Amino acid sequence: MSKKLQLLILCLIFCLCPGCAVNPITGQEEFMLFPQEQDIEIGEKYAPEVEKQLDGRIADERLQNYIDSVGQKITRVSHRPDWQYHFTALNHKSINALALPGGYVFITKGMLEKLTTEAQLAAILAHEISHVVARDSSAAMSRNIGIGVLLSAVASAKTSRGVFTAADLTRQIMGLQYSKKDEREADLAGLDYMVWAGYNPYGAVEIQQILQEEHKVRPIEFLSTHPDPQNRIAYLRARIQTRYRNLEGLKIGRQDYRSAVLEHLIDNEAD
Ligand SMILES: [Zn+2]
Repeated sequence: MSKKLQLLILCLIFCLCPGCAVNPITGQEEFMLFPQEQDIEIGEKYAPEVEKQLDGRIADERLQNYIDSVGQKITRVSHRPDWQYHFTALNHKSINALALPGGYVFITKGMLEKLTTEAQLAAILAHEISHVVARDSSAAMSRNIGIGVLLSAVASAKTSRGVFTAADLTRQIMGLQYSKKDEREADLAGLDYMVWAGYNPYGAVEIQQILQEEHKVRPIEFLSTHPDPQNRIAYLRARIQTRYRNLEGLKIGRQDYRSAVLEHLIDNEAD
């Protein structure tokens, strides 16, 4: 075979392989059945459904803007600063946070009420942003549901045999579990992102402690799709010890979080 032909074949394999995408966090090629443009299509289609199923947006634009500003700060230091991200706080009482493909990140009121600092909020958003960047939910969806099904789901609540409604699929999407490896990568990349964005990384350890304590009282939605906090605390601490011993100038933001979120949630409840 001529050199030219070999080169052409190699080029075709690397450039046109539709099932491969490089995960920018690990630098490794991963199997992916659809291009990133479809992430956005799926995100746009299912974000309103997720909002609906989790009791709608919290009607407080200052609170929403604050959550969005913390999220956007983190996306700018992520491996995909060029993508668009949307951060939305939802009314649901459950303790939960999730990300859809295409950069749609949600956090529930139940979760917001449990946090006490901006660094903890940053830790949750950074973890979800890492899932978006690594396209974990896209991969889990193509494995477990099928992209054709997701794109062709009917919008109405009625379903004929064999046809899923968008509402059915949204419930499935919200219950998707990522692998332990994906979760660990999202935890560690999230830790890097939050520090690069100027936040104290112990916020990520505190989140795990909060979830662990809460879980003793009642089962937590976030933990039904995520690994055991004890294990996560260990590797987060190890990473902080090796990479981020110097915490000087990194933000905790207790007062900011109280006035931008906690006081607003109390105000809304009083209304
Ligand atoms: Zn996760």
